[in-house]
Amino acid sequence: MTQKLTAKPIIKQIYSNLIFEIEKFHLSPKLVIIIIGDDPASLYYIQNLEKKGNKVGIAVETKKLPASISMKILLNEIERLNKDGTVHGIMIQKPLPSHINESEIIMKLDPKKDMDAFHPLNIGNLVLNKEGFVPCTPAAVLEILSFYNIATEGKNIVIIGRSNIVGKPLANLLLRKSKTGNATVTICHSKTSNLKNVTRKADILIAAIGKALFVHSDMIKYNAIIIDVGVNQVEDAEKGYKYVGDVDYENCFEKASAITPVPGGVGSVTTAMLLKNVLIACKNLS
Ligand code: NAP
Repeated sequence: MTQKLTAKPIIKQIYSNLIFEIEKFHLSPKLVIIIIGDDPASLYYIQNLEKKGNKVGIAVETKKLPASISMKILLNEIERLNKDGTVHGIMIQKPLPSHINESEIIMKLDPKKDMDAFHPLNIGNLVLNKEGFVPCTPAAVLEILSFYNIATEGKNIVIIGRSNIVGKPLANLLLRKSKTGNATVTICHSKTSNLKNVTRKADILIAAIGKALFVHSDMIKYNAIIIDVGVNQVEDAEKGYKYVGDVDYENCFEKASAITPVPGGVGSVTTAMLLKNVLIACKNLS
């Protein structure tokens, strides 16, 4: 029987730990999200995050800036937030307008408040297995594997996607000499030849592609564990639109031994990991 790796019991545990710690240590963690322009998906995501934050006692403030903002004003704004002692976490929501230089913004961000762990210092610490922030989505994948007692040691793990936010940091984490590491990791991308031949060898297949329902049952081996990071908006006859993963869930369900749903899988745990990062930042800065 295929196991559904749902986020619900995981986030319940994370949120109750957050509430407990915030109350116990009388903390007032605060996250500021900078949003440039008015991308509807981003606004929806942030609204949701504000609600979740409120429930656990983490203030989530949105700093909405016009799409025409200059780099100079944006960098000044980041500097102001870096110095603001009441702000513990800063996140810059994507997509960014084309005139915005992402690397310059990341370099400006105080690494101690860098919730996405994009700053080279945090990336370096992650690769070197030193203390520092871990990007929320890779952290969520590890949290799911750990919660459901899925061993990674000695396993063939294939990740489809080599982005800086998911694929690359996740591969590094899974390679660590740790309980959620010690795997043999392969990263695939759009130039991988014979993708199916590679993915079919995976004990654990992680999809982070950004293409709706891309992974079919002929791409996975029997009893593989499937972790679907993808979130894709597709048309829906009833509701107008809905969200699906990078994995064709229905098609792969029978063949897999365990699989994460979308929604209700990696995305929900990612939100919880983000709020957890804010609490860590708050404790570090207090
Ligand atoms: P991204 O930066 O666009 O990277 C996508 C990766 O997929 C790239 O490495 C790309 O290869 C690879 N790819 C594209 N087409 C492929 C193909 N036909 N065969 C093999 N590889 C292919 O995306 P991302 O930011 O990592 O996000 C990936 C997905 O995860 C998206 O659906 C996104 O919405 C979702 N996501 C979810 C969360 C969450 O919290 N659940 C967080 C972040 C992202 P190249 O490098 O060669 O272009």
